[in-house]
Formats: sequence, C-alpha cells, structure tokens
Amino acid sequence: MASELIDSFGRVHNNLRISVTDRCNLRCTYCMPEEVTFLDRAELLTFEEITAFVRVAVPLGIDKIRLTGGEPLMRRDLPRLVQMLRGIDGIRDIGLTTNGILLADQAQALFDAGMRRINISLDTLDAARFRQLARRDGLDKVIAGIHAARRAGFQPIKINAVSIRGITEAEVIPLAQFARAHGLEMRFIEYMPIGADHWERDKVYFAREIMEQLESCIAPLVPVDDYDPRSPAMEFRYTDGGGRVGIIASISRPFCMSCNRVRLTADGKLRNCLFALDEVDVKHLLRRGVPEADIAEVIRKNVQSKWEGHEINTSRFIKPLRTMHAIGG
Ligand code: SAM
Repeated sequence: MASELIDSFGRVHNNLRISVTDRCNLRCTYCMPEEVTFLDRAELLTFEEITAFVRVAVPLGIDKIRLTGGEPLMRRDLPRLVQMLRGIDGIRDIGLTTNGILLADQAQALFDAGMRRINISLDTLDAARFRQLARRDGLDKVIAGIHAARRAGFQPIKINAVSIRGITEAEVIPLAQFARAHGLEMRFIEYMPIGADHWERDKVYFAREIMEQLESCIAPLVPVDDYDPRSPAMEFRYTDGGGRVGIIASISRPFCMSCNRVRLTADGKLRNCLFALDEVDVKHLLRRGVPEADIAEVIRKNVQSKWEGHEINTSRFIKPLRTMHAIGG
C-alpha cells in the first residue's frame, strides 16, 4: 500500500502506538510522579473510537500497532480491543508493552485474541531495587507474567530495562543471563527526559557501556543479519549462539531520522513524536462525527509537520508537559 503518511523529511509512517489508559499499578520514578490525577473514564477513547481511528489510519499506511499506557492491562477487557483491531484489514501486527504485573492472568486471553508480540518492562531482578525504582512491590508478579507469556506462546518476548547510571551497571549481566536462559530478547533503553524525575545526561548509562559489559562478561556481539533499519533498537546476537540483545540508544545515537511512529494518547490526542510539544485532539473529531476524510487529512497534516528530531542533545530541548505514563511509552 502506498503510504500517505510522509513527513517533510521523507520519513514514512506505518507504526501507531495506542495508549489505552494513563493509569498504572507501578510508579516508576523515571516515568511518573507518585501522586497523579488520572483521567476520568469519560475522557478515555472507547474501544469503538480507537477502532474507528485505526480504520481511518490504515488506508493512509498504518499497518503496525502497539498497545501501551499507563499500564495497558489495567484497561478492562483488553483482549476485546485486540480482536476488534485484528478484524481490520491491513493491520499485520499488534504488539503490547506492559509492566507484566497483571500478565499472568491475561496472557492466554491476549494470545487467544490474536496478539503475538509482547514487550515486558523489567529493570532489575532484585526485589529491593524493584521497589526502589517502581515505588511498589511486584517483582514476583512480573516474573510470573513473563513465564505465563512464554507458556501462552508469545514470540518474540522482549524484556525492556531503562538504563540509568548508578542502577543499571549491576543489572546488565543478571538481566542478560535471565533473558538468555529463557529464550527472551533483552533490550536496554537509555534513560530519557520524559519522566517526573530531574533528568541529566550524566544519569544515562550509555549503550556503549552496556555493550562493553555484555561483551566482556558474556560473549562478543555482532549485528543481527535481519536488522531492521526502522527499528529503534540496535540489534545484536551473541556469537556463542545465546540469543539476541537490543539497545535503544535514544540519547547517544538518536534514531529520529528513521522514525516511523505516531502516537494516540488514551484521551485521544495525536502526537507525531514522543517529545512533541503540540498534539491534535482527534477524540473531539471522532465524537462530533466528523467525516473520515477530514480525520484522514488531520492525520496527514500532523505527520507532515513532524520536526526533524527530539533535540535532547541540544540547548533547544524543551521537555513536554506530559510525562511518559500520560503519553504512552
Ligand atoms: N506500563 C507499561 C510498561 O511498563 O511497559 C507501558 C508503558 S511504559 C511508559 C513503556 C516503556 O517506557 C517502559 O518500558 C518504560 O520502562 C519506558 N520508560 C518510561 N519512562 C522512561 C524514561 N524516562 N526513559 C526511557 N524509557 C522510559
């Protein structure tokens, strides 16, 4: 399908991240504040509205969806949304990003609804450090969720860890070994200035440092053969055959020029960048019954106006007002 979602830098957009709630059952320090006023339920897009939006976006070139949040598994009846989205011709991939806390109970239903790809966030295998980072307990539940996802048949299962100096150094090897032992792909994400915490560059534990640790303690790494240049992760395989590892170097190697994503927030705002300062209210359009052609034009224009990149490494960077949990990670 010819894409109509091309911005002024020639980037083609096929990837839509949909946040289904801003609520979360953790309070990760790098992501959100401890005290939060969540959206009223009436402000959330209904499953029917999300599906209606996707039906407009697919003919424009969207074929890949990721459900996220907040914590997406806190949205009741999520498998029903997966089924509704799967029913749309042209959607070839639906993935989920979750903290895993509620996954043990929901993995099978999500798989049965047609979901196959899942990313589970886990920054540490140490229960005390988990509590320090997430301001809640829950390590056992996340581990149970990972195993439930394996049993259900999800493939691939990726484990996402935010890479923060002073925390992640001690976690890289245990997490990587855990992933290797269970056939999971470990992914490290450089800490970005999108949470409630005060961010400084010095707090990022960089991709290069992670790779040095992995290569000296586990095995040499080489780029994977099926590397997708549009994927945010640099993907490597261990030369000893022990699987793959991904590194999302948003700060030290920004990948904005290959970005193919747009985001729909839980309250129906369209954002063309995680760090965008402007957003377009599509809920209002959907609720007013605006013709699909007009909504399509709003999406096209939003993508066209996308800026070159996030500017985190410049003095021009302005942190968005919303924190990660309210945008959708
Ligand atoms: N609750 C779900 C979860 O934990 O995966 C989905 C939403 S969460 C906002 C999505 C991802 O964003 C998680 O992997 C999380 O670790 C990551 N994230 C949140 N804040 C971040 C930050 N400041 N820098 C880098 N990644 C961050």
